[in-house]
Amino acid sequence: MLAHQLDLEKINEELEKKNPPDIIAWAVEAFMPKLVMTSSFGPESGALLHMISRVNPDVPIFFLETGFHFPETIQYKEDLVRQFGLKQVIDLKADPERRAKLMVDYQDVPYEKNPDLCCQINKVETLDKALKGYDAWMSGIRRKQTDFRKSIRIVEEYEGGMYKVSPLANFTSRDVWWYLKENQISQHPLFDKGYMSIGCWPCTRPIQDGDDERSGRWAGKAKTECGIHSFKEVKKDKDSEKEKSQDISENI
Ligand code: SF4
Repeated sequence: MLAHQLDLEKINEELEKKNPPDIIAWAVEAFMPKLVMTSSFGPESGALLHMISRVNPDVPIFFLETGFHFPETIQYKEDLVRQFGLKQVIDLKADPERRAKLMVDYQDVPYEKNPDLCCQINKVETLDKALKGYDAWMSGIRRKQTDFRKSIRIVEEYEGGMYKVSPLANFTSRDVWWYLKENQISQHPLFDKGYMSIGCWPCTRPIQDGDDERSGRWAGKAKTECGIHSFKEVKKDKDSEKEKSQDISENI
């Protein structure tokens, strides 16, 4: 946990005017060596990975190795690591006993029979454990991606004292694709086959023109998030707490 409290109102106001590489530079300055980034090495991942490689390639990058990735994702990961000179890409794996029990309990298809628990064990618990000891976590989520993500702030504080930084919060899908094109960053091999957002193979489908960009994830299920961006409670600032208590008292 940081020894001092950050003034998030002021910091977010400033960072809203900055571009993603400047936000990353701010995060490196504020949190290194206790800063970590996560990446799925999907079709949009090249943008943030390229930016971080230019600002500081020593920032550790966590990859949740669920055991269910497309071989093309693993190949793409190796390509980007080599292309960008990333120095610390770390594969995170679930607790072996928890994972083995999950596979037995759900007849080797936990993603069909209990996808929430499958994500919980393979992603959420695994990441939660790995984040201990870090002050801040950076990821490539964007406000335009889902309803859940539209209210994120560039820097948020979680209950318990960890910070989350989202340098691409203001980027649109078009901004990402332009960035990739302008910087001649190679694309995920499945992108040309209609995969816009790529996670584990059992839970990812190609999409049709005009579909929502994340509609190929957990298609046909109510699930839209794996849980890693929602398992920690965002700490409310004093003003919103005050507003909340006024709302309550006005309604008594
Ligand atoms: S995305 Fe699918 S396969 Fe991957 S951990 Fe979640 S439920 Fe399991």
